[in-house]
Amino acid sequence: MPIYEYICNACSEKFSQLRSMSESEKAAECPRCSSINTKKVMSSFCCSGGDSGFASSGHSHGGGGG
Ligand SMILES: [Zn+2]
Repeated sequence: MPIYEYICNACSEKFSQLRSMSESEKAAECPRCSSINTKKVMSSFCCSGGDSGFASSGHSHGGGGG
């Protein structure tokens, strides 16, 4: 069962709840103010832009083998 993140519109509390995919569409109750005025947010992990910069080059170690 995936964990979904929600944000309360009433108190701006961010919380996560363990809900099934079907239930994820339903409004989650805020654990702080018990309000159901919440919205689901996408959990973002890693990836903070940035392309150019790192140069791709390195040493070739060893080789051959058997
Ligand atoms: Zn709240």
